[in-house]
Amino acid sequence: MGLIRPAPPAAPPGTPARDPGLRPGAEMAEAAAAASACTLCAPHLPLGPRPIHQLHAQARIVITSQAPGTKAHLSGIPFEDASGERLRDWLGLGKDRFYDPTLVAIMPMGMCYPGREPRGGDRPPRPECAPLWHPRLLPLFAAPRLRLLVGAHAVRFVLGRGMPFAERIERYAETLPMHFPLPHPSWRTLVWAKRNPWFDTEVIPALRREVARALGD
Ligand code: SF4
Repeated sequence: MGLIRPAPPAAPPGTPARDPGLRPGAEMAEAAAAASACTLCAPHLPLGPRPIHQLHAQARIVITSQAPGTKAHLSGIPFEDASGERLRDWLGLGKDRFYDPTLVAIMPMGMCYPGREPRGGDRPPRPECAPLWHPRLLPLFAAPRLRLLVGAHAVRFVLGRGMPFAERIERYAETLPMHFPLPHPSWRTLVWAKRNPWFDTEVIPALRREVARALGD
């Protein structure tokens, strides 16, 4: 827990939309600072831009998740909530290793809280974010061994829409050793997992094996 560094405070209302860009040849620390300064979606973000990520060139596991919820937006810490507890349980990792950026990177599909849908639930990640930042950030990881695609947005962005989501999860072995597709660890997934018991009996044990492999345990 001592390694957690909350994101800088949210940009104030009225902040202009701006992509800070990235200098060619920049290393990960500079890229992470640039991502933190991004306000590109400011007009669409009800609580203002507050990019939340965990980035280090040496990370062995890269988590591509959805977008922060309100709790993460307020704390500046990714996955510091019930979904994060569930994800860490799936991975077999305690907070000390999960929040060690030299082991685990968190590079969401949308780094800022996107707001609520009128009918409830959070909006999808901002569509500007992953196409802009992932190509800048991904090459700066020295030797990632496993990329976890957490939730339908990440799975479809990286692996395409070629098959139904549940089938993609069930056929996780086809995209190893690099990509491991997963559902979002929200409470809704508990219901989904009851209907798909192979998730707990087959996918989770395989996930823990892959995480241990990636971390060299
Ligand atoms: S969601 Fe991504 S692209 Fe949009 S302001 Fe935040 S960091 Fe920038």
